[in-house]
Amino acid sequence: MRSVLPTVAARASEGQRVAAAPDRRTTIGAVDSWLEPARELPVIGRPDVLVVGAGSAGIAAALAAARRGADTWLLERSGFLGGLATVGLINLLLTMDDGGGTVVVAGLCQEFVDRVEGRGAARYPPSPEWDNEDPDAVDRWRRWGLIWGAPPEAVRYSVAFDPEVFIDVAHEALADAGVRLRLHSWFASVGMSGGVVGAVIVESKRGREAICPRMVVDATGDGDVLVSAGAEHEQVAIPPYLWFRVGGVEDAGGAPGGGREWFLTTGKGRVLVPWGPSPDRVDPCDPDDMTQAEVRCRLAAHGAFERLRREVPAFADAWLDDYARMLGITESRRLVGAYVLRKEDGDVRFGDSVAQTGHWTRRHVVFDVPYRCLVSPAVANLLVAGRCISTTRYVHQATKEIPAAMATGEAAGAAAARAVATDVAVQDVDVGALRADLRSRGAFVGGVD
Ligand SMILES: Cc1cc2nc3c(=O)[nH]c(=O)nc-3n(C[C@H](O)[C@H](O)[C@H](O)COP(=O)(O)OP(=O)(O)OC[C@H]3O[C@@H](n4cnc5c(N)ncnc54)[C@H](O)[C@@H]3O)c2cc1C
Repeated sequence: MRSVLPTVAARASEGQRVAAAPDRRTTIGAVDSWLEPARELPVIGRPDVLVVGAGSAGIAAALAAARRGADTWLLERSGFLGGLATVGLINLLLTMDDGGGTVVVAGLCQEFVDRVEGRGAARYPPSPEWDNEDPDAVDRWRRWGLIWGAPPEAVRYSVAFDPEVFIDVAHEALADAGVRLRLHSWFASVGMSGGVVGAVIVESKRGREAICPRMVVDATGDGDVLVSAGAEHEQVAIPPYLWFRVGGVEDAGGAPGGGREWFLTTGKGRVLVPWGPSPDRVDPCDPDDMTQAEVRCRLAAHGAFERLRREVPAFADAWLDDYARMLGITESRRLVGAYVLRKEDGDVRFGDSVAQTGHWTRRHVVFDVPYRCLVSPAVANLLVAGRCISTTRYVHQATKEIPAAMATGEAAGAAAARAVATDVAVQDVDVGALRADLRSRGAFVGGVD
């Protein structure tokens, strides 16, 4: 007998909607890869300059670009400004001098010192003390974490600061300069058009979006942008640190162990414990490695805190205030740029120098940072700033420091704005004019004209 119910085909042909049978499978079987469908992304902006990463280098880059009139965006994956310098609890600017009493980093870094100090949240040796080798003076500042390196040690121009005040100052400065800030957004990849970054793809809870800037500054610390853009780079595995702060320390200034196991801070009764390194090396760009490191370091750092409480009377009633929100990663990926700065370049003056730095453990050596260390020959609209610029591992020890990161950030931001204003590739920026511009705004660029 024929059914009186219409067949599926018949219903479909009558234009009725037919629900597909629900898929009740609970597994899809073994697959080795997954093909993500291509999709069109909304372009959410076309700034002159996009700075990726809002650590100390990225903040300086964004400020430098915006203050020169460039429409500037600053992208950051976390909800915080400052990166290692703030939420990484690396709250020491080492160092702004050459180890002989001469200042070599100024510009935006000095502006931040002034602004943070203006709120009572920075401590540093007064200038008459710089280069003083007197053991009492050295020991006094060692307690603030400001003396490192081999004897003969001397007091240096280095600065201990409060990270929250640094963040507040950064917010104010960026807002005043008109920088458009985009937090909680990960840089994901770039879309290249030949040797040009055409689009920067960002990922957030809003999904994937594209930004089409004229110039990009990679200030991610890990070189995420330069890697995605195909620039040559190198990468290392390192042992991580996890600094933490302790509150409620009695007479922290006089307690034994100060200056080695912990440092004074601008907060009364609060000290900074520079825990690390962890014995195991990690790949800082591998989330599994980093997850294990977070767990291991936190446990070990907590053990160190408990030991202090047990063994040091000043810590008897102390509490653990906070662990760094970023593992202490000294280095990961670095650009191999148009020039790689080497140990032999110490005290060499370069014609295209755009920043200078001393060395935190060595006195009487100053590195010029040539503009070529901030650019890749392969990408026409990419600059690099901070701890991923083009140097050897030896020189990285100096250029990774916060003052140097701010100085290279300032140079990269100024160069990006100049490239936009003069409509040239980053390789064709007039470096003489860039140097003069940086100097006119208080930066120390070193080099020779
Ligand atoms: C243990 C340790 C001790 C140190 N001691 C000192 C010291 O005493 N004095 C000193 O001056 N320096 C010190 N340094 C070095 C210094 O802290 C860092 O090298 C410097 O802060 C790096 O600044 P940066 O802006 O280049 O990078 P970071 O501070 O790493 O900033 C990078 C920013 O980019 C963001 N980011 C990264 N990837 C993405 C992405 N894909 N999308 C969006 N955002 C992203 C990050 O969240 C971060 O905010 C130390 C470093 C370590 C690890």
